[in-house]
Amino acid sequence: MLDNNPKTNKITTKNSELITNTKLVTFTPDEAGSFYKNTNRLRSTQNKTKILRLIYGDIYCDERLKKFKMMEIDTCIRCFEKETIRHLLT
Ligand SMILES: [Zn+2]
Repeated sequence: MLDNNPKTNKITTKNSELITNTKLVTFTPDEAGSFYKNTNRLRSTQNKTKILRLIYGDIYCDERLKKFKMMEIDTCIRCFEKETIRHLLT
């Protein structure tokens, strides 16, 4: 987990506490450490949010929209396969 230190106003991390398994990616503790540090260096909050939502699988693909009953079909409009997050990225 990211730890906000108010005295130094810097975000400190301990690799052993980082989340290494997300829906889409499995990191080693070192990879997770450098990923979160690099993500934290981004100036744009919008981009930080987009990257974190993406790796945690919080994207509204048709599979999720159907699951939440916001859509009737869960197939890709281009190739008619099931539209998952992984399908959108590949
Ligand atoms: Zn497709």
